[in-house]
Amino acid sequence: MHANLASIMPQVIGVWCEEEGHDVRLECYTGFEDLNSILPHDIDILFIGAFTQAAQLSYAISAMFRKRGVVTVLGGPHARCYPQDSQKYFDYVLGFTDKQTLRTVLEDAAPHRPLGVYLSAKKQPPSLPGVRERWKFIEPTLRKAPTFKIVPMLGSLGCPYTCSFCIDSTVDYQPLALEQLREDLRFLLTKMKRPRVGWHDPNFGIRFNEQMDAIEEAVPPGSIDFLAESSLALLSEKHLQRLKKNSFKAILPGIESWYDMGGKAGAKSVQGMDKVKRISDQVNMIMRYIPYVQTNFVLGLDSDEGEEPFELTKKFIDLTPGAFPGYSLLTAFGQAAPLNLEFQREGRVAGFPFHFLNNNHAMNVRPRNYAWRPFYDHVVDITKYSFSRQAIARRFLANRETIPKWMNVVRALSTEGSGRIKYHSAVRARLDSDPSFARYFEGGSDELPQFYVDRVKSDLGSLWDELPEGALYHDPHAYLKSQPRIPLTLTQPALAPAVGESE
Ligand code: SF4
Repeated sequence: MHANLASIMPQVIGVWCEEEGHDVRLECYTGFEDLNSILPHDIDILFIGAFTQAAQLSYAISAMFRKRGVVTVLGGPHARCYPQDSQKYFDYVLGFTDKQTLRTVLEDAAPHRPLGVYLSAKKQPPSLPGVRERWKFIEPTLRKAPTFKIVPMLGSLGCPYTCSFCIDSTVDYQPLALEQLREDLRFLLTKMKRPRVGWHDPNFGIRFNEQMDAIEEAVPPGSIDFLAESSLALLSEKHLQRLKKNSFKAILPGIESWYDMGGKAGAKSVQGMDKVKRISDQVNMIMRYIPYVQTNFVLGLDSDEGEEPFELTKKFIDLTPGAFPGYSLLTAFGQAAPLNLEFQREGRVAGFPFHFLNNNHAMNVRPRNYAWRPFYDHVVDITKYSFSRQAIARRFLANRETIPKWMNVVRALSTEGSGRIKYHSAVRARLDSDPSFARYFEGGSDELPQFYVDRVKSDLGSLWDELPEGALYHDPHAYLKSQPRIPLTLTQPALAPAVGESE
């Protein structure tokens, strides 16, 4: 994980373990360190916090440590999305983790093999250690960030919106204590000259006035810069004036689709070109107040059909030249969201190795309204359009401040722009040239194309040898199979399959 995007929860686990009387060492692996030299060798328990893209890496590290007699624990997004698979490779797998859950692990601290124990609190913890307590872990992580240093903070958990693909759509919205927020910001000013805070709230500003009051009470306006993800419905001009006053420098709103997810965009009743114009006007207005804006889109949603959604996105780029477009291929992360059950019931989820599930390197849901080849043609086309020389130049000119101007150029010329054009084009070409590719994508074969095996092998390096047998594969229907069977009732047709029997 990039040091500036490092998660808060591993730091929380570190603080809680110390409070329970343990010695802790925390490492944020950014992909460049020599793991063999940074990982400690004299430990009793290893906790790994991983997103799904790092699953194979974490499985390999866990295997290496278990051989040495260490008990291993997995938490984070991958553990929440794929607990059944993770249990094969860890002694404990954690869902929602509060201090009591952690205590249970520490008190038991025993190997559980071949299948690890799954533990989850009923809900997210009511409070988390603040920046002061986490500082001993934040500081060394920030040293790994080359120029910008972003301190991770949380003002709330969960989200009241219900975007069907999102892991937070089923997590109750819960604001964290405002006193803690104030204390964190004040503390930060004693440690850094002009700190940058990245809000990790899934949707910043649900209780907008309360959060902004707390920020204003804690620190003088302009003394700390902020970055946040927020939905368009919350970004009214009045709110933007206050965000500007408090030095919010970057906002990442999700548009997702021109035909769906209208609630969070505050545009429930409009679709298609009308939505493009409405959202474009709003994003251009946001850019008058906030120097850096990234707009997020999901490609391949069931509501999309034909070339129109892609053409509308191009129109949006023309009308909103300053915003950086971020694209995600529709991905069903295990049991992250209820929508994934539907995909699994329909047999549309493919078993691409976790290593590629980063919203871009593989799309594990077969699109409802597209065959793979035309779909990838559209993906390549929209990526090329978004990061063409003309688009890069227009973005440069449309941004006012130096850092955003150049950040957009760098992003467009690196993995997010040129890199993705190259990768998506390579996948598209293989769909024609490599029959094993097309068969795998269409669901006609479970045999993973060599292309994917080679990439994992090369990315894992020497840890490839530690990857347990079979760990490259997972059951893409595990979520569906874990559902309780619903007994038949008189109102159900006698031959209807019970949930979980659709395999
Ligand atoms: S608004 Fe954002 S955080 Fe909330 S449910 Fe939708 S995608 Fe998730």
